[in-house]
Amino acid sequence: MNDQTYLKFAEILKSESPLPITEDQSRLFYDFMNAMKEMNQRVNLTRILDEKDFIEKHLLDAITCPLKSSENQILDLGSGGGIPGVPLAIYYPDKHFTLLDSTAKKMKAVKEITETIGLKNVTCVAGRAEELGKRPEYRETFDAVCARAVAAFNILDELCAPFLKTGGTFYAWKGQQAEEEIAAAKSGPKKLGLGEAHITQNLMLKSAAFHVIIQCDKIASTPSKYPRNYGRIVKKPLA
Ligand code: SAH
Repeated sequence: MNDQTYLKFAEILKSESPLPITEDQSRLFYDFMNAMKEMNQRVNLTRILDEKDFIEKHLLDAITCPLKSSENQILDLGSGGGIPGVPLAIYYPDKHFTLLDSTAKKMKAVKEITETIGLKNVTCVAGRAEELGKRPEYRETFDAVCARAVAAFNILDELCAPFLKTGGTFYAWKGQQAEEEIAAAKSGPKKLGLGEAHITQNLMLKSAAFHVIIQCDKIASTPSKYPRNYGRIVKKPLA
């Protein structure tokens, strides 16, 4: 490892992060960034390659999710290149993260990345959320479901809710349109067993391109008729 290059990375990470970061975490974040950039030459995982942007828009944007200490089994739905799942797994080595994406090529690449950097608390699964959410081994088995940049909130709620245990939390990364998306979902979350959606965190990141996180508690079991097939979900979102 070129130490000068690492030290520059570590300095930016530390100065930009609103959360404390240990030396071990900092090194792993650095390894992840490099492994992802390397893999990106073969498989398109991200357009964010500038180091400062990578730190702000991928690493810090992911780890500022307000996961609870009781949430140990976490699903990253529509993980793509492994965001937010991989940075969260680095930040929380004692929690387990399942990364799910419908693009098998991306999940294979992310699995290889996590093996390269020696990250053990991650499982990569290729498949469609609306199919896996029906399977007993995944249904209502997670303490938290995270999703960034996957779908509008009124579609995402139906994809995510079936995976959550009652008492679990759904975290959706959103931009400035979060309020409108919540309004558009109407009583969709309620039909799925989710409590009222609220914007819980306005990230204190210096980057202007910050996200907010919509948070919903799962308060009742999801009726077995959900999720419907993807065509139905998109054509006629719950309301
Ligand atoms: N969360 C990542 C990737 C966002 S791109 C990030 O923020 O960088 C959205 C990803 O969601 C794509 O990789 C796409 O394959 C996946 N996706 C979309 N719909 C899905 C579904 N129904 N089931 C599983 N994955 C899905």
